[in-house]
Amino acid sequence: MKGTTLVRVCGAAVFLIGSWAAYTQDPPAGQLTISKVKDDLYQIVGDGGNVAVYVTGEGVILVDDKFEPDYEQIVTKVKSVTSQPIKYILNTHHHSDHSGGNVKFEPTVEIISTANAPKNIVEKKQPGAPANMTFTDETSVYLGGKEVRAKYFGRGHTNGDAVIYFPALKTIHTGDLMAGNTPQIDYLGGGSVVEWTKTLDGAMMLDFDTVIPGHGAVTNKAGLMTYRNNVEKLRTRVQGLVRAGKSQDEVGKVMMAEYGWAANSLPMQWSLPGMMAELK
Ligand SMILES: [Zn+2]
Repeated sequence: MKGTTLVRVCGAAVFLIGSWAAYTQDPPAGQLTISKVKDDLYQIVGDGGNVAVYVTGEGVILVDDKFEPDYEQIVTKVKSVTSQPIKYILNTHHHSDHSGGNVKFEPTVEIISTANAPKNIVEKKQPGAPANMTFTDETSVYLGGKEVRAKYFGRGHTNGDAVIYFPALKTIHTGDLMAGNTPQIDYLGGGSVVEWTKTLDGAMMLDFDTVIPGHGAVTNKAGLMTYRNNVEKLRTRVQGLVRAGKSQDEVGKVMMAEYGWAANSLPMQWSLPGMMAELK
């Protein structure tokens, strides 16, 4: 099972791209845990992207649904905090570590994403089940007297990242617009390191104090601002090297030394060439 372990370790470290998603299809489900974020909002962590669980008196709204094999555990974890059925899932973006569970949920749950997210699955033949309802700018789900708002602020990790807002709890779920230490840009999926900071600037206009990132620990508005500024720093650094005529190899060495990117890692193979082309 050594090979399987390796794939799962990579899967935890990197969360991008169609070709990448092909590697991580159907990994064995990891051990998931559920914990309270605030009031009736919980998160499920442990495999793939962070799932938000919002409990209302008329049903449950999820943000993202991890990989397909995590379905059973997600259902079990939700049942451990409420007897209400799962009614809606809002996908932050199309990657299979955030929307892989759609395949299992779609017979009984309304699944909503940005309009671009299913296009990345259908037109670019990336794995996953598209949502059955989409929006282009903003939409809201009202259930049991509570609102969850999904908003598209622009390109970043992909061209279809939704920021999910829980107004009553002053909390957002960023999807992979905040994930890991440095941004991973899915250029095949329409991502952009140039637009990324503008997209986060839009999200920062919302009234919130708590942030559930796509991967990693819950943080606050200042934490998201730090992440946004780090995206800008990385972009400025890479742009300086590109405009100084450095090769991809040379820029890659800087990324390894200064940002801890592993040699031949997926960020190196997928994000870097796109960044260098975009920052010329
Ligand atoms: Zn992603």
